[in-house]
Amino acid sequence: MRTHRIAVIPGDGIGPEVVREGVKVLEAATTRAGTFRLEFDWLPWNCSYYRRHGRMMPKDGIEQLRAYDGIYLGAVGDPSVPDHVSVWQLILPIRKAFQQYVNLRPAKLLAGLESPLRHKEARDLDFVIVRENTEGEYSDIGGRLHPGTPVEMAVQTSVFTRYGIERVARYALSLARRRRGRVAVATKSNGLAHTMPYWDEVIRSCRVEFPDVDVSFYHVDALSTLFVLRPETLDVVLATNLFGDILSDLGAAVVGGLGVAPAGNINPEKRFPSMFEPVHGSAPDIAGKGIANPIAAIWSGAMMLEHLGHPEPAAEVVRAIEQVLAEGRVRTRDLGGTASTEEVGDAVVRALEHPR
Ligand code: ATP
Ligand code: MG
Repeated sequence: MRTHRIAVIPGDGIGPEVVREGVKVLEAATTRAGTFRLEFDWLPWNCSYYRRHGRMMPKDGIEQLRAYDGIYLGAVGDPSVPDHVSVWQLILPIRKAFQQYVNLRPAKLLAGLESPLRHKEARDLDFVIVRENTEGEYSDIGGRLHPGTPVEMAVQTSVFTRYGIERVARYALSLARRRRGRVAVATKSNGLAHTMPYWDEVIRSCRVEFPDVDVSFYHVDALSTLFVLRPETLDVVLATNLFGDILSDLGAAVVGGLGVAPAGNINPEKRFPSMFEPVHGSAPDIAGKGIANPIAAIWSGAMMLEHLGHPEPAAEVVRAIEQVLAEGRVRTRDLGGTASTEEVGDAVVRALEHPR
């Protein structure tokens, strides 16, 4: 029987609370499937590790992770440590080292949940955001000029490579082929005169390999109105690092909020481990209270199962989440209930074992 080795990084704040439930559900799904094994190693790399060692992970952290088949992350970040430390020293090095160039964020309205959007078409939302995850606007090229003078300024250079655009575009186009055959590309070629026309041009050149996929380009401002007014028309949304970051929070909001928004940082070629994590952060305001919603983390775990080649148990986990939501009794506070994090995890395990 195949064994997948998973590195679990619970992280900070609510990270450990939601990851515990995610692992519980993954173990139940694996036992039910009976066709593979998961072996979990827990890595204590977080902000308290940083306070003790002056770094978020050991010097050979990336080398240690290379041996795994998947990485399951809670969230990192703590009010006592600047965000750029926790993110720049842990998440970004992992994304880069393992060429996780796709940030995949499903925005699907689960059965039992309601969208904050009131029109009736908003009951049937199922799209996915493919965010470029390694280059673009989030580069470390730049700095301050003439500091302390009246002409002080900061500059930041975006980097778009043909290689980087082509690989994420091909991923989005082939994903659309397996879905409803439509890609909406976020651009801003009317404002960003150099990078965005190039982004559009390279995507247009890839599209000839996918004549069956319908590709439309939208300026990101217009696309964000579509997210609110006609989200049911979306299938695959392809966006740069910055625009994808913003649009995916909007996507999460229209399908029920951060408590139910999963994500994968994917290396599609599977040469390196991919990393799965809820979209939400460490939520220090509710940490330690046992009230965080674990659904985003559990669903991210299901995405990991799918990526590891087990689509059926992955689908069973999502179905179990939907069964719990549809029954409506066991919900955390963010979804209008009073249940604890652990009660929701337990309810999902029960729903897995007793499908309706
Ligand atoms: P980051 O900088 O890591 O994005 P943040 O503080 O900006 O962190 P989150 O940690 O995602 O953002 O929290 C934003 C808000 O959403 C907070 O009020 C938090 O309590 C709430 N929230 C986030 N995740 C959950 C969850 N799983 N369950 C319930 N509420 C959540
Ligand atoms: Mg945030």
